[in-house]
Amino acid sequence: MTLPPSPLNPAAQASEKMARLRQTYIVQLPKQLAHMHSLLDKVMHASAEMDTDPQVHASVAELHRLLHNLKGTGRSLGFAQLGSHAEQGETLLQERAPQWPLQLKKCLQQLQTTTQEQAQLLASSLAMSGPGFAVMDPLAQTPAHGRLVYVCDDDPIMLEQLAAQLACFGYEARGFTEPQALRMAFLQRRPDAVIMDIHFPQGARAGIDVLLGLRQETGAPVPAVFLSSRSDFDARLGAVRAGGQAYFVKPVRANALVEALDTLTHHDQPEPYRVLIVDDEPTVADYHALILQQAGMLTHTLHDPRQVLHTLSTFRPDLVLMDMYMPHCSGQEVAAVIRQDVQYVGLPMVYLTAETDRHKLLGAMKIGVEGALSKPVDPQELIGAVAVRAERMRTLRGLMARDSLTGLFNHTVTTQLLERALAQAQRTGAQLSFVMLDIDNFKAVNDTYGHPVGDQVLIALARVLQQRLRNSDIVGRYGGEEFAVILHNESAHSATRLIDALRQDFARVNFYSGEQEFHCTFSAGVASFPEFAHFEVLREAADQALYQAKRAGRNCVVQHGTAGPL
Ligand code: GH3
Ligand code: MG
Ligand code: MG
Repeated sequence: MTLPPSPLNPAAQASEKMARLRQTYIVQLPKQLAHMHSLLDKVMHASAEMDTDPQVHASVAELHRLLHNLKGTGRSLGFAQLGSHAEQGETLLQERAPQWPLQLKKCLQQLQTTTQEQAQLLASSLAMSGPGFAVMDPLAQTPAHGRLVYVCDDDPIMLEQLAAQLACFGYEARGFTEPQALRMAFLQRRPDAVIMDIHFPQGARAGIDVLLGLRQETGAPVPAVFLSSRSDFDARLGAVRAGGQAYFVKPVRANALVEALDTLTHHDQPEPYRVLIVDDEPTVADYHALILQQAGMLTHTLHDPRQVLHTLSTFRPDLVLMDMYMPHCSGQEVAAVIRQDVQYVGLPMVYLTAETDRHKLLGAMKIGVEGALSKPVDPQELIGAVAVRAERMRTLRGLMARDSLTGLFNHTVTTQLLERALAQAQRTGAQLSFVMLDIDNFKAVNDTYGHPVGDQVLIALARVLQQRLRNSDIVGRYGGEEFAVILHNESAHSATRLIDALRQDFARVNFYSGEQEFHCTFSAGVASFPEFAHFEVLREAADQALYQAKRAGRNCVVQHGTAGPL
């Protein structure tokens, strides 16, 4: 039994797209074949000294390219017979035996007949799909990003304090003094993590037993962090057996707890790989794009290789798939142009080509292209080859882009991202705000409590910013204790209010040096686009506003151009 194609079924969607691609290709083929016929006619009607006539030479080269493409695309799209006729034609052109033009004429006629047959076949069964490939359900890869935490402790004051501290970091914490109350709430709405005290008046195992029961009832492990006044091995073992992923001895420090919670609840949706496909033939480019899209990747197809530098800067691919034979210039030349730009020295490039001559392929790879896949490519092989290289690119980029202490974007990358965000805002006319933040009297923190404690403050501020801002917002460590935030679609006024709310929360975070508790604050300056349209002036304006905030007494946020802090 075959299922009817449904708009909600990705497999059916893919096979429909595939059928349409094959249809589009077959429909335009007669015109291409007619062009090949006319090229061949030019060759046949040329004078005797065929080989020296530059026009004949150009016609032969063009014929060669078209047949080569037809071989690759025909096979990729599942038209095996077209592929082998095209291959015969290509061989005729390569070998140039006596009478080759006549034989090629016959070959082109066979191609025409096969095209007609295939077109009729396709028309009679439009839903027919080409070479099959595995389809992944994109919905299965999109976990929700939640931050609900249930805290269970028999001490109501400690519950209240902990909930308030967690809220500073963007967690919604609900407190329960009784494990059974937590169980009831859990069954109604599953939290992202549970923080459980180990000792309750009802017995040492009351909390642990409830968690073990919940795991059985729901059939899924409960991400849990345990709090205890005991630090001995048996207590810790009990927690591990109950599925505890972290264990804290009281008094518990919220920012240490938040670190564990971040790890437990952080299911960042992996960004799809971005693949640029350079191929002069739209159908074949679309076909490869379709395979990669079905594997959850983002693709951009480019038919005119002369646009490649522009497309690289706007699309920012993790990998380039490059055709080898194109009009205007070869894939090898395009790859060389890309490699010459220092920005792209690390960008992985892979040829996707019908060329099978190992010698030519090796020569073409010498300029720094990592691999070659031959057309027709096995879809799983294509997905695998792209994924492994794109992932490596991601890792390298991530290491180069991040500050090692806070995990935020470093100064260079933050600057690049701001320039890019500004260019985008200019194109779309959207608003954008830029914020410079600086911790107040931070030198005194280091001097009083030591550098490692100062580091904890930097990490905590990074967490507050990251947890509280949207995923699309950009947070960078701009300098020692200076941070920068880029807020998309946010006016200076609303950005100022937003950062001011974060300022108030950060001021409430408890920091400790040994037993000694202290607090930290930051000051911030906000400026925005379109009021400041260029990178340097925007940064300068935010910096001026920050300076104004420091002069106004610190622990405040100033919007550029206003009289003073909110
Ligand atoms: P203001 O309120 O005017 O900003 O005063 P401040 O003391 O914060 O500013 P100042 O620029 O005088 O001092 C910044 C301090 O930040 C000095 C430096 O030692 C410290 N710092 C810079 N980077 C780090 C770091 O990675 N870790 C730690 N612990 N301290 C750092
Ligand atoms: Mg400072
Ligand atoms: Mg400073």
